[in-house]
Amino acid sequence: MKPTVVISACLDGFAYRYDGATVNDEIINRLKSLFNLIHVCPEFEIGLGVPRKTIKLHKIGNQVRAIQDETGVDLTSELEGFAHSFLEKLSEVHGFILKAKSPSCGVGSTKVYKDGNLYGKTYGVFARYVKENLPYIPLIDEGKLRDKELMWEFLAKVFTLFRFESAKSDINSLSNFHSRHKYLFMGISQKHLKELDKIIAEHKPGKFDEAVKKYEMTFKDLMRHGFKKTNLVNSIVHIFGHISENLTRKEKSYFLDLVDKFRAGKVDFVNLVEVLRVYATRFENDYLLHQYFLAPFPEI
Ligand code: SF4
Repeated sequence: MKPTVVISACLDGFAYRYDGATVNDEIINRLKSLFNLIHVCPEFEIGLGVPRKTIKLHKIGNQVRAIQDETGVDLTSELEGFAHSFLEKLSEVHGFILKAKSPSCGVGSTKVYKDGNLYGKTYGVFARYVKENLPYIPLIDEGKLRDKELMWEFLAKVFTLFRFESAKSDINSLSNFHSRHKYLFMGISQKHLKELDKIIAEHKPGKFDEAVKKYEMTFKDLMRHGFKKTNLVNSIVHIFGHISENLTRKEKSYFLDLVDKFRAGKVDFVNLVEVLRVYATRFENDYLLHQYFLAPFPEI
C-alpha cells in the first residue's frame, strides 16, 4: 500500500506540453516509486491539442484569467470546470505534485501579467482550484521539491495523511497514530496538538464515531498549516530532552549550537533530524524511534 499522489502528466514522461516536449526530472524519477500516481493534464483534458498556442495568466480587475494570447480565447472557466469534475471523481488522495510555472499547474510560481507587463507570480488555474478546495492536502511543484526542507515537509505530510486512513478503525489505532505523530504535529501547531490530545483523552467507550469525527476535523485543519521554524525548534528541543542526559557536555553543546544555527537559517532542519535519529538509535530509545518525526516517510 502506498499513498496516492496526483502528478502533472508532463512530469512523468507524457508529451502533453504545449510544444510536445517531455520533462525528465531527476527528483520525480527518484520519488515516484513511493506513490500510486494519478496523472493529470488539465490543458489536454479540456481538448487543447499538442502542440498548442501558449496560455498566459492575466490580471483583469480582481481576477486572474488564463488566456491564449494569440487567439484571445479565455480558458479559465473550462480549466476550472475540469478541475471541479476531476476532484469530484477522486476518491482518496494524499498529495499533488504539479508542474512549476505553468498557467494551469504552477504552485505560486506562474507569471501573471497586467496590461502587458509582468505583475507577479501566482497559482495556475488548476493548482489554485486544488489549493482552495482541498486545503489540507499537500501540494507542491517540482521546482520546490529541489529544496530539501520543502521536500521533507511535503513527504512528511503525504505519509501522515496516508497513515491516518488506517487509524480511523478503532480507538487503539487512533491513539497509536496520535501518540506517534506527537512531535510532527507539534512542529506544525501546538494549539492543534493540544486539541487532538484532548479528543483522545476525553474519548468515552462506545463513542468512537463521535471522537474520530472530531479528531478528523481538527487533524485536517492542522494539515492546512505548514511547519513553522519556532514550532520545529520546539519539537527538536523536546526530543533532545529525551536523550540529552546520555550525552557528554561537548555533544550537548554541539547539538545546541546546531539548533541555534538552524534558528539563524545556517543549517538545514533535515540535518538536525538526522542527528537526533542517530542518537535515538545509539541509545535504543524505542519511544523516540517510534516517533514519525524522526522518520516520517520511507528512505529515498
Ligand atoms: S504543466 Fe500541466 S497543463 Fe501543462 S502540460 Fe504539464 S500537466 Fe499539462
